[in-house]
Amino acid sequence: MSDQCPVCGKGSLRTKKVREELFGVDLGTFEAEVCDACGETFFPAASVDRIQARAKELGLWGLATKVKVTRSGNSLVVRIPSSLAKYLKLKSGQEVLVAPEKNNRLVLELA
Ligand SMILES: [Zn+2]
Repeated sequence: MSDQCPVCGKGSLRTKKVREELFGVDLGTFEAEVCDACGETFFPAASVDRIQARAKELGLWGLATKVKVTRSGNSLVVRIPSSLAKYLKLKSGQEVLVAPEKNNRLVLELA
């Protein structure tokens, strides 16, 4: 018997292999329970551990971090942690394009 989906309460959960990605990088496929009605995906603890291990292997773990905005003259400064700069091969003095995007996002495009 399959379990009922805790999100929509209508569908049943089926075991499937689900492809997971982080920051646009493919991490591989992992076993998950997927609702056949709403499509919600639930990863069991074992899969979560494997996803985390793979993300660490690829140097992707911890790249998304909270940073504080500071002031410099009339401008605001956002610090880019060294691990993220290294991952992006971003160097001091390099020119980048900064632009707003919907959903409260700020895009920084590397040339
Ligand atoms: Zn559902």
